[in-house]
Amino acid sequence: MMKQIVFLLMSLCFFTKTFSDNAHKGKIKVLIVDGQNNHSVWPKSTIMMKQYLEETNLFEVDIERTHYLNNSETHKDWLPLANVPEGVEGKPITDPNFNPDFSKYDVIISNFGHRAADWTNETQKSFETYIKNGGGFVSVHAADNCFPEWEAYNKIIGIGGWGNRTEKNGPYLYIDEHDQPKKDYTPGPGGKHGKREDFLVTTYHKKHPITKGLPLSWMHADDECYAYMRGPAENVTILATAVTTLKAAELQQKEPVVMTVNYGKGRIFHTTLGHDTTALECVGFITLLKRGVEWAATGKVKQTKIPADFPTENKTSTREFQYNK
Ligand SMILES: [Zn+2]
Repeated sequence: MMKQIVFLLMSLCFFTKTFSDNAHKGKIKVLIVDGQNNHSVWPKSTIMMKQYLEETNLFEVDIERTHYLNNSETHKDWLPLANVPEGVEGKPITDPNFNPDFSKYDVIISNFGHRAADWTNETQKSFETYIKNGGGFVSVHAADNCFPEWEAYNKIIGIGGWGNRTEKNGPYLYIDEHDQPKKDYTPGPGGKHGKREDFLVTTYHKKHPITKGLPLSWMHADDECYAYMRGPAENVTILATAVTTLKAAELQQKEPVVMTVNYGKGRIFHTTLGHDTTALECVGFITLLKRGVEWAATGKVKQTKIPADFPTENKTSTREFQYNK
Protein backbone atom coordinates (compact mmCIF):
# COMPACT_ATOMS: atom_id res chain seq x y z
CA MET A 1 0.00 0.00 0.00
CA MET A 2 2.77 2.40 1.07
CA LYS A 3 4.68 1.63 -2.15
CA GLN A 4 1.59 2.44 -4.20
CA ILE A 5 1.14 5.78 -2.45
CA VAL A 6 4.79 6.68 -2.99
CA PHE A 7 4.50 5.69 -6.66
CA LEU A 8 1.33 7.75 -7.01
CA LEU A 9 2.99 10.79 -5.42
CA MET A 10 6.06 10.42 -7.62
CA SER A 11 3.89 10.17 -10.73
CA LEU A 12 2.00 13.25 -9.66
CA CYS A 13 5.25 15.19 -9.15
CA PHE A 14 6.52 14.05 -12.53
CA PHE A 15 3.25 15.00 -14.22
CA THR A 16 3.18 18.45 -12.53
CA LYS A 17 6.78 19.12 -13.51
CA THR A 18 6.26 18.00 -17.10
CA PHE A 19 3.12 20.09 -17.32
CA SER A 20 4.85 23.22 -16.01
CA ASP A 21 7.88 22.65 -18.29
CA ASN A 22 5.54 22.35 -21.26
CA ALA A 23 3.77 25.59 -20.35
CA HIS A 24 7.12 27.37 -20.82
CA LYS A 25 8.37 25.13 -23.60
CA GLY A 26 9.57 26.93 -26.67
CA LYS A 27 9.33 30.39 -25.15
CA ILE A 28 12.37 32.60 -25.42
CA LYS A 29 13.59 33.60 -21.97
CA VAL A 30 14.28 37.33 -21.77
CA LEU A 31 15.74 39.41 -18.95
CA ILE A 32 15.36 43.20 -18.96
CA VAL A 33 17.93 44.91 -16.75
CA ASP A 34 17.40 48.51 -15.64
CA GLY A 35 17.50 50.90 -12.69
CA GLN A 36 19.73 53.81 -13.64
CA ASN A 37 18.74 55.83 -16.67
CA ASN A 38 18.83 59.57 -17.31
CA HIS A 39 15.64 59.00 -19.34
CA SER A 40 12.77 59.50 -16.95
CA VAL A 41 10.60 57.14 -18.99
CA TRP A 42 12.64 54.13 -17.85
CA PRO A 43 10.30 52.27 -15.51
CA LYS A 44 7.50 52.71 -18.05
CA SER A 45 9.69 51.78 -21.01
CA THR A 46 10.64 48.52 -19.29
CA ILE A 47 6.95 47.67 -18.81
CA MET A 48 6.22 48.60 -22.41
CA MET A 49 8.98 46.40 -23.82
CA LYS A 50 7.97 43.48 -21.58
CA GLN A 51 4.36 43.74 -22.72
CA TYR A 52 5.26 44.10 -26.41
CA LEU A 53 7.33 40.94 -26.22
CA GLU A 54 4.91 38.87 -24.14
CA GLU A 55 1.90 39.73 -26.33
CA THR A 56 3.55 37.71 -29.13
CA ASN A 57 3.44 34.54 -26.96
CA LEU A 58 7.01 33.89 -28.06
CA PHE A 59 8.76 35.42 -25.07
CA GLU A 60 8.74 35.18 -21.31
CA VAL A 61 10.21 38.30 -19.71
CA ASP A 62 11.77 38.84 -16.26
CA ILE A 63 13.12 42.12 -14.88
CA GLU A 64 16.13 42.69 -12.61
CA ARG A 65 17.24 46.12 -11.47
CA THR A 66 19.88 47.95 -9.54
CA HIS A 67 19.32 50.61 -6.92
CA TYR A 68 17.37 53.32 -8.58
CA LEU A 69 17.82 57.05 -8.03
CA ASN A 70 15.15 59.30 -6.64
CA ASN A 71 14.45 61.47 -9.60
CA SER A 72 11.76 64.13 -9.68
CA GLU A 73 11.44 63.70 -13.43
CA THR A 74 10.62 60.05 -13.19
CA HIS A 75 7.18 59.00 -14.38
CA LYS A 76 6.17 58.47 -10.75
CA ASP A 77 2.90 56.72 -11.51
CA TRP A 78 4.81 53.92 -13.21
CA LEU A 79 7.08 53.17 -10.25
CA PRO A 80 4.60 51.00 -8.30
CA LEU A 81 3.46 49.31 -11.50
CA ALA A 82 7.07 48.45 -12.27
CA ASN A 83 7.61 47.29 -8.66
CA VAL A 84 10.37 49.84 -8.20
CA PRO A 85 11.49 49.80 -4.55
CA GLU A 86 12.61 52.78 -2.48
CA GLY A 87 15.20 54.81 -4.40
CA VAL A 88 18.57 56.11 -3.23
CA GLU A 89 19.59 59.78 -3.13
CA GLY A 90 22.37 61.52 -5.02
CA LYS A 91 24.54 60.20 -7.84
CA PRO A 92 24.11 56.76 -9.35
CA ILE A 93 26.05 54.25 -7.26
CA THR A 94 27.24 50.73 -7.95
CA ASP A 95 24.75 48.23 -6.61
CA PRO A 96 26.80 45.44 -4.97
CA ASN A 97 23.79 43.11 -5.03
CA PHE A 98 23.07 43.41 -8.74
CA ASN A 99 24.36 40.15 -10.17
CA PRO A 100 21.75 38.46 -12.39
CA ASP A 101 22.21 34.85 -13.41
CA PHE A 102 22.48 35.74 -17.11
CA SER A 103 22.90 32.08 -18.07
CA LYS A 104 19.22 31.43 -17.27
CA TYR A 105 18.22 33.60 -20.24
CA ASP A 106 18.38 33.47 -24.03
CA VAL A 107 18.71 37.23 -24.29
CA ILE A 108 19.32 40.25 -22.05
CA ILE A 109 17.84 43.69 -22.82
CA SER A 110 19.50 46.76 -21.32
CA ASN A 111 17.33 49.70 -20.35
CA PHE A 112 20.18 51.47 -18.54
CA GLY A 113 21.18 54.96 -19.67
CA HIS A 114 23.62 57.82 -19.47
CA ARG A 115 25.71 58.01 -16.25
CA ALA A 116 24.57 54.64 -14.93
CA ALA A 117 27.04 53.49 -12.25
CA ASP A 118 29.39 50.68 -13.20
CA TRP A 119 28.30 47.15 -12.46
CA THR A 120 30.58 45.27 -10.05
CA ASN A 121 33.62 43.56 -11.54
CA GLU A 122 32.02 40.20 -10.91
CA THR A 123 28.82 41.17 -12.75
CA GLN A 124 30.79 42.62 -15.67
CA LYS A 125 32.84 39.42 -16.01
CA SER A 126 29.77 37.24 -15.77
CA PHE A 127 28.06 39.31 -18.50
CA GLU A 128 31.11 39.17 -20.78
CA THR A 129 31.35 35.40 -20.38
CA TYR A 130 27.64 35.02 -21.08
CA ILE A 131 27.87 36.97 -24.36
CA LYS A 132 31.15 35.34 -25.43
CA ASN A 133 29.58 31.91 -25.00
CA GLY A 134 26.66 32.75 -27.28
CA GLY A 135 24.24 34.81 -25.18
CA GLY A 136 22.01 37.42 -26.79
CA PHE A 137 22.02 41.12 -25.95
CA VAL A 138 19.82 44.05 -26.91
CA SER A 139 20.89 47.68 -26.44
CA VAL A 140 18.01 50.18 -26.61
CA HIS A 141 18.55 53.94 -27.02
CA ALA A 142 20.62 55.30 -24.07
CA ALA A 143 21.96 51.86 -23.16
CA ASP A 144 24.75 52.79 -25.59
CA ASN A 145 25.55 55.87 -23.49
CA CYS A 146 26.61 53.99 -20.40
CA PHE A 147 29.77 52.26 -19.18
CA PRO A 148 32.21 54.25 -21.41
CA GLU A 149 35.25 52.83 -19.56
CA TRP A 150 34.20 49.18 -19.86
CA GLU A 151 36.22 47.89 -22.80
CA ALA A 152 34.27 44.72 -23.49
CA TYR A 153 30.94 46.55 -23.22
CA ASN A 154 32.05 49.02 -25.91
CA LYS A 155 32.90 46.07 -28.17
CA ILE A 156 29.54 44.45 -27.42
CA ILE A 157 27.53 47.56 -28.38
CA GLY A 158 29.89 48.32 -31.30
CA ILE A 159 29.44 52.08 -31.09
CA GLY A 160 28.31 54.43 -28.33
CA GLY A 161 27.94 58.07 -27.44
CA TRP A 162 28.56 60.59 -24.65
CA GLY A 163 30.37 59.67 -21.40
CA ASN A 164 33.51 61.40 -22.77
CA ARG A 165 33.71 59.00 -25.68
CA THR A 166 36.21 60.34 -28.22
CA GLU A 167 38.70 59.02 -30.81
CA LYS A 168 40.28 57.04 -27.95
CA ASN A 169 37.20 54.76 -28.12
CA GLY A 170 37.47 54.14 -31.87
CA PRO A 171 36.18 55.60 -35.14
CA TYR A 172 32.85 57.20 -36.00
CA LEU A 173 30.74 54.69 -37.90
CA TYR A 174 28.24 55.71 -40.57
CA ILE A 175 27.12 55.12 -44.14
CA ASP A 176 29.04 57.48 -46.41
CA GLU A 177 28.10 59.34 -49.60
CA HIS A 178 28.92 56.21 -51.66
CA ASP A 179 26.38 54.26 -49.61
CA GLN A 180 29.17 52.26 -47.96
CA PRO A 181 29.87 51.70 -44.25
CA LYS A 182 32.69 53.99 -43.20
CA LYS A 183 34.93 54.06 -40.16
CA ASP A 184 35.98 57.66 -39.75
CA TYR A 185 38.96 58.31 -37.48
CA THR A 186 38.49 62.11 -37.32
CA PRO A 187 39.04 63.19 -33.70
CA GLY A 188 36.04 64.50 -31.78
CA PRO A 189 33.36 63.65 -29.28
CA GLY A 190 31.09 60.65 -29.73
CA GLY A 191 27.34 61.25 -29.58
CA LYS A 192 25.15 64.16 -30.65
CA HIS A 193 21.50 64.51 -31.44
CA GLY A 194 19.24 67.24 -32.75
CA LYS A 195 15.78 68.06 -31.50
CA ARG A 196 13.17 65.43 -30.96
CA GLU A 197 11.11 65.02 -34.12
CA ASP A 198 9.62 62.61 -36.64
CA PHE A 199 12.29 61.34 -39.04
CA LEU A 200 12.69 58.90 -41.88
CA VAL A 201 14.31 55.53 -41.17
CA THR A 202 15.76 53.82 -44.24
CA THR A 203 16.41 50.10 -44.47
CA TYR A 204 20.06 49.60 -45.43
CA HIS A 205 20.34 45.81 -45.18
CA LYS A 206 17.26 44.45 -46.94
CA LYS A 207 18.05 40.74 -46.55
CA HIS A 208 18.80 40.54 -42.86
CA PRO A 209 16.12 38.55 -40.96
CA ILE A 210 15.42 41.58 -38.73
CA THR A 211 14.72 44.00 -41.60
CA LYS A 212 13.59 41.61 -44.34
CA GLY A 213 10.29 42.69 -45.90
CA LEU A 214 10.11 46.05 -44.13
CA PRO A 215 9.38 49.12 -46.27
CA LEU A 216 12.53 50.71 -47.65
CA SER A 217 11.73 53.97 -45.83
CA TRP A 218 9.29 54.71 -43.04
CA MET A 219 8.51 57.69 -40.85
CA HIS A 220 9.52 57.15 -37.23
CA ALA A 221 7.59 59.11 -34.59
CA ASP A 222 9.00 61.77 -32.28
CA ASP A 223 12.48 60.55 -31.41
CA GLU A 224 16.11 61.61 -31.17
CA CYS A 225 18.26 60.67 -34.13
CA TYR A 226 21.57 59.74 -32.53
CA ALA A 227 24.52 60.91 -34.63
CA TYR A 228 28.32 60.83 -34.53
CA MET A 229 28.40 57.60 -32.58
CA ARG A 230 31.82 56.01 -32.23
CA GLY A 231 33.48 52.99 -30.67
CA PRO A 232 35.47 49.88 -31.56
CA ALA A 233 32.95 49.35 -34.43
CA GLU A 234 34.10 45.74 -34.88
CA ASN A 235 31.80 43.14 -36.44
CA VAL A 236 28.95 45.64 -36.84
CA THR A 237 26.29 45.11 -39.53
CA ILE A 238 24.25 48.25 -40.18
CA LEU A 239 20.59 47.41 -40.84
CA ALA A 240 18.91 50.83 -41.02
CA THR A 241 19.94 54.47 -41.08
CA ALA A 242 18.61 57.99 -40.59
CA VAL A 243 19.95 61.44 -41.31
CA THR A 244 20.22 63.95 -38.47
CA THR A 245 18.85 67.44 -38.91
CA LEU A 246 21.54 68.77 -36.57
CA LYS A 247 22.70 72.12 -37.88
CA ALA A 248 26.22 71.07 -36.92
CA ALA A 249 26.14 68.11 -39.32
CA GLU A 250 29.16 68.98 -41.43
CA LEU A 251 29.28 65.53 -43.02
CA GLN A 252 26.64 64.17 -45.33
CA GLN A 253 26.37 60.90 -43.49
CA LYS A 254 23.65 58.41 -42.75
CA GLU A 255 23.64 57.42 -39.11
CA PRO A 256 23.24 53.79 -38.08
CA VAL A 257 20.03 53.58 -36.03
CA VAL A 258 19.53 49.81 -36.23
CA MET A 259 22.45 47.37 -36.29
CA THR A 260 23.74 44.01 -35.17
CA VAL A 261 27.08 43.18 -33.58
CA ASN A 262 28.88 39.89 -33.10
CA TYR A 263 31.02 39.40 -30.03
CA GLY A 264 32.50 35.94 -29.51
CA LYS A 265 29.60 33.58 -30.18
CA GLY A 266 27.13 36.22 -28.96
CA ARG A 267 24.58 38.07 -31.06
CA ILE A 268 23.76 41.69 -30.29
CA PHE A 269 20.85 43.77 -31.58
CA HIS A 270 21.44 47.49 -31.11
CA THR A 271 18.96 50.27 -31.82
CA THR A 272 19.52 53.91 -30.99
CA LEU A 273 15.76 54.54 -31.25
CA GLY A 274 13.45 54.80 -28.23
CA HIS A 275 13.81 58.13 -26.39
CA ASP A 276 10.35 58.55 -24.84
CA THR A 277 6.80 57.19 -24.82
CA THR A 278 5.80 58.19 -28.37
CA ALA A 279 8.97 56.79 -29.95
CA LEU A 280 8.37 53.53 -28.06
CA GLU A 281 4.76 53.47 -29.32
CA CYS A 282 5.88 53.68 -32.97
CA VAL A 283 4.89 50.50 -34.78
CA GLY A 284 8.28 50.56 -36.52
CA PHE A 285 10.07 50.52 -33.13
CA ILE A 286 7.78 47.79 -31.77
CA THR A 287 8.29 45.59 -34.84
CA LEU A 288 12.07 46.00 -34.79
CA LEU A 289 12.23 45.30 -31.06
CA LYS A 290 10.26 42.06 -31.36
CA ARG A 291 12.33 40.89 -34.33
CA GLY A 292 15.64 42.08 -32.89
CA VAL A 293 15.11 40.34 -29.55
CA GLU A 294 14.13 37.10 -31.32
CA TRP A 295 17.19 37.29 -33.57
CA ALA A 296 19.58 38.02 -30.68
CA ALA A 297 18.16 35.03 -28.82
CA THR A 298 17.94 32.50 -31.66
CA GLY A 299 19.67 33.83 -34.77
CA LYS A 300 16.35 33.59 -36.63
CA VAL A 301 13.18 35.65 -37.02
CA LYS A 302 9.84 33.85 -37.23
CA GLN A 303 7.85 37.07 -36.91
CA THR A 304 7.89 37.82 -40.62
CA LYS A 305 4.43 39.36 -40.93
CA ILE A 306 4.51 43.14 -41.38
CA PRO A 307 1.81 44.79 -39.22
CA ALA A 308 -0.98 46.42 -41.26
CA ASP A 309 -0.44 49.65 -39.31
CA PHE A 310 3.31 49.83 -40.06
CA PRO A 311 4.35 53.45 -40.77
CA THR A 312 4.77 54.55 -44.37
CA GLU A 313 7.25 56.89 -45.98
CA ASN A 314 4.95 59.84 -45.35
CA LYS A 315 3.07 58.90 -42.23
CA THR A 316 4.02 57.90 -38.71
CA SER A 317 2.02 55.19 -36.99
CA THR A 318 1.80 54.72 -33.23
CA ARG A 319 -0.19 52.50 -30.88
CA GLU A 320 -1.19 54.23 -27.67
CA PHE A 321 0.17 52.04 -24.89
CA GLN A 322 -2.45 50.34 -22.75
CA TYR A 323 -1.00 48.54 -19.76
CA ASN A 324 -2.85 45.25 -19.42
CA LYS A 325 -1.86 44.11 -15.95
ZN1 LIG B 1 17.18 60.20 -25.42
